[in-house]
Order: sequence, then C-alpha cells, then structure tokens
Amino acid sequence: MPKTKPSKPDTDVNLRHGGRATDTCPRCHYVRNKKESEKGKLLHGIPELTDSAKLRGVVGQIKDNLMRDKSLVGDPAAVFMMGVLEAKINGGEYYFYASSGRTAEPWIKPKHLDGITYHQGKWTLANPTLPMNNKGWLTVRGEKVNLDEDIQGVTRPCSAVKLLVALGEKHLDWNSVDYVRMSEMVYVGPKAEDARYMRAWHGQGATNSWTAGSCDACQARIPYLICDVSRGWLVNP
Ligand SMILES: [Zn+2]
Ligand SMILES: [Zn+2]
Repeated sequence: MPKTKPSKPDTDVNLRHGGRATDTCPRCHYVRNKKESEKGKLLHGIPELTDSAKLRGVVGQIKDNLMRDKSLVGDPAAVFMMGVLEAKINGGEYYFYASSGRTAEPWIKPKHLDGITYHQGKWTLANPTLPMNNKGWLTVRGEKVNLDEDIQGVTRPCSAVKLLVALGEKHLDWNSVDYVRMSEMVYVGPKAEDARYMRAWHGQGATNSWTAGSCDACQARIPYLICDVSRGWLVNP
C-alpha cells in the first residue's frame, strides 16, 4: 500500500470528519452547503460531519474500560480505531459504536460500554461488511455509490466508515435530518509495531487522544457516504 502522510486534524471543538461544508461533494458535485433555492433548505442533510463533546465522553469511557480490561492488555500489540456515532433521522434516534478492521470479533464488547451515562443502554455495535475496492459502497441514506478510481482501498477500515455504512444499512425514510455526529479515538497497545501512522494523530508517547481521525483513505470516503442528495439532483446518477 502506498505511504500516505496523515493530514493534521482540526483541533477546534467542532472537529470535522471528511472535510467542510464549503467543499465540493465528490458524489453529487454540488458544494456541500448549497441551498435548493435562494431561501430554500440545504441540499445536503449533512453538509459536514462534526464531532461532539458528549460523544468524546462516550468513546472516552469505552477507552477507559478497554484499558482496564486484562484480557486486552494480554495483546500488547493491539492497535485500532474506535468510534461512536449518534444520528436523528426522521425523528428516530440511532446510537452506534465500532472498532476498526475486518475481524469477525470486534475489539469492543458489550462489557466495554459499562459506565456510559449518555443514552445509556442504547448503543449498538456497527460491524458491516465493507467492499475491498471502490465499488458498491452505501451512503447513509442507503443508496449504492461507487468511489472515484483514485481512492485507495482499505484493508482495515476505520470505525468512521463502518458507522456511516451501518446507518445506510438501516435504509431509513429520509425526510428530515436533525443531526449526525461522530467521535473517534485511537487505541494503541504499548508493543504495537505498525502504529506510527496512527500515532501521528496524537504525538509520540501518548496513549490515546481526543483528536483522532480516520486514515486518509477513509477521510476521502466520508464525503461520499454522507451525501444524501436525492437522485433527481444528480447529473450522472
Ligand atoms: Zn453530495
Ligand atoms: Zn481508515
């Protein structure tokens, strides 16, 4: 896999995942904050995917539980992304957690959710099967999307893309989007060898960080996956 240099993530409170509202969407080719008409509503239900302090608290609690887990400490080379997502779509609320990779056995077990006070008991695992190449991805709205050829495949998909595809797999009615928010964090075991690209997110020596973001290949996928512009607006659907 070609080496990519991790870009420095935003450090402000509203850390964004997968670019900004002023970027052009790679799926529909409209600027993400474009309105349907002069005074109309936004074309994109999710012009940008932001972080939130409450979600950082949730993923932080999971991290604390993982670090106390003796069975996990038994794998000192463990390194993975973890993430949580909350969404309110058509009045329904959804709460997902995920860890990165394609293992059948996800790192985060139900016991690692102990002590979460924010929407306690509502968190469900997101572990969808993801395409190896650029074909056949799913938007949050549950529509198939092919990515541009130049976007790298991912062997160990970050939690972010799993969370978004899991939302798409619900195939929700999509008349209103109140919010979709996400937080990610890196777990790095003390003996992890291939974690340099992940450590770049939070500096050498640190154990975990709030400012974790997906790898470049997953960051590049996010704008496709959050595009909920209906097919009627697409120039080349
Ligand atoms: Zn779009
Ligand atoms: Zn990734």
